[in-house]
Formats: sequence, structure tokens, C-alpha cells
Amino acid sequence: MSQAKGQGRTRPSNTMRIFHSEAHRGHAGAMEMRYDKLIPMCESPDRMDTILEALRAQGHQDIVEASSFGLEPVLRVHTPSFVSFLENCWPLWEAEFGPGGFATAYMFGMRGMDQLPNASVHSMLSCYTFDVCVPIVAGTWSAIKSAVDTTLSAASFVKNGGEAAFALCRPPGHHASSDLAGGYCYVNNAAVAAQMLLDAGASRIAILDIDYHHGNGTQRIFYDRSDVLYASIHATPEREYPFLLGYARETGAAAGEGFNLNLPQPLGTTIAPYRAALQQAVERVKAHGPDVLVVSLGVDSYIRDPVGGFALESEDFLRLGADIKRIGLPTLFVMEGGYAIAELGLNTANVITGFCN
Ligand SMILES: [Zn+2]
Repeated sequence: MSQAKGQGRTRPSNTMRIFHSEAHRGHAGAMEMRYDKLIPMCESPDRMDTILEALRAQGHQDIVEASSFGLEPVLRVHTPSFVSFLENCWPLWEAEFGPGGFATAYMFGMRGMDQLPNASVHSMLSCYTFDVCVPIVAGTWSAIKSAVDTTLSAASFVKNGGEAAFALCRPPGHHASSDLAGGYCYVNNAAVAAQMLLDAGASRIAILDIDYHHGNGTQRIFYDRSDVLYASIHATPEREYPFLLGYARETGAAAGEGFNLNLPQPLGTTIAPYRAALQQAVERVKAHGPDVLVVSLGVDSYIRDPVGGFALESEDFLRLGADIKRIGLPTLFVMEGGYAIAELGLNTANVITGFCN
């Protein structure tokens, strides 16, 4: 096993700085529907613990507490009514049902009809969520804020001249769009960071999404814009969540035409075809000429991931990190998915170590 490759051989701390916040822990204890089964949520606090442990074991000791950025950067990407819903959902739910449990939608919006939420929390959940995988509990809002603060802290490090940073955060973000939560995602951390970097003077950003699932939220946020390229390698929507989006034919609209690159892959994809797709994405990223590369880092492409269907092995993630390093851009890694708890830490740390070595 090539984990030894990482031991004690990472570059000095100014190469890669890791940001984290413990405030994610309160987002826990809810259930999710997996097809016909009600199960404890896969997206759980122990994901962060196992990644932290593996990062330290591979010599990444430079782990910094995130700073607070307030909601202004979030509101550059998400609508005020959606952000207000995320903040107020749990108190409204608790007032109706009492403490404990979790808030979730009972029904979803009806396509083609004019729908506005009213004062009922159920109307808000119907309007602002698109699946049954975004339960809200008492600690969800604090966790959402901690994830975006962690990402913005890492983005600021890169903005100020740092070579690379890793936002180790949860809940993830790439399924969330400006006014819709879904797929464990509430606020789109990567998108908020990309917008912040543009607002701070960057001309172009590229988002490379290597999570197993298509980042439908990130795609939607930047779909008609040319300043942010979105390139994603993911399981084909014909077989995998989010089912309705992620096709190669989705190439952007209006000014954004040509700035959305979807590279859907069949289930069972191994590292060789995966890297071929990555090379395609890398060429497009380089042609875009971004000031910063944002990597939506999911490792649910791992062969034994309970949510995934690809066949990447742990040592393959070292190669992906090295491939991303060779792009030669200031790089911000933002944690997305990965649910095989036993190997999640190793797989994530391998990407970071592969990048640093
Ligand atoms: Zn995923």
C-alpha cells in the first residue's frame, strides 16, 4: 500500500494549509431514505474524524481553525429567502413537533405552477428542498455556517498567495443551487468560494468536480456564465443520482455556452478510464486560464463506497492528487462526498498527499 509514500514527506506548510471547524458536529442524528429503506444518514460527523486522523498520520499537521465571514458571501450565491429558510426551518419545525426528530419535506414543488412558500414550514421545505436527503436538525444551521466559513478561510489563504488549501468541511455543497437544497447539501460551499474569489479580483475560476455524483447545484449556479468553468466527472445520470442532470449535452447557456463540461462515466469505472476523463477536464480547465482552481473533492468514487458505483482503489487517489497538482494552478480543495467510513480518511488524505508530493 502506498500510504507510506505520504509519511513525513509532505512539503512545508506553506504548500498546503488545511482548514476545519468543529461546529459541524451538531448536524447529526437524522435519518434518510435510501430507495425503500429508512436508514441513519451516511453524511455523519465521524466522516470528519476519520479524515483528520488520516491527514495527521500522513504528516499533514498544519490544520487551522476556520474564521467567521458572516452571511454576505453566501448571499452572493443564494437567495435571501432560501438562506432565511435554512436558518429558521428548525425553530419553526420544533414549534410544531417539539424537540428531537428532524425536519424534512412531506411533498415537493409541482412543476409548471406558480408556487410561493407561506408561513408554514412545510411549504418552505417543499419549495426549497428537492429530495429526502437534506434533513434539518437543531445543529444544522451552525454546521452549514461552519462549512462555508471553513471554505472561505481556505479560499482566503489561496487568495492571499497560498499555493493550495483544503477546506475539510461538512455538510457538503455541490448539489445545492441558489434556492434549492438536496443530496446532503444546503449551501454550495465551492460556489460561494468561487464567487468570493471573483469579487476579490479574480477574472476567471474553474471548478473541477471529482465527486462520484454530478454537482447539479454548482452547474445550475454558473450555467449561464463564462467567468466560472464547471467541469465534472461523475456517474451517468442514466444510472445514478441526481438522475435528471449530468448529461454531456448540458454545455451551458447564453454567455455560459461552452463553459459547462460534463463527463459522465459508466458504473464500474476504474482508474484508467477515470484518468482519461480527468485529462479531458484538465485540458478544458487549462484553456479557461483560471486564476484559481476549485476542486470539489468527493471520494465516493471508491470501490467500496456504500453510495457510489465506481471502482477506484485507495492508491488511485494518490494519482488523482498528483494529476491535479500538475495543472499548476493555485488550488482550493473543498470536501464534498465520501461515505466508506473505514477508508474515507485514507482516500481523502491520499488525494492531498498525492498533490503535495
Ligand atoms: Zn457524491
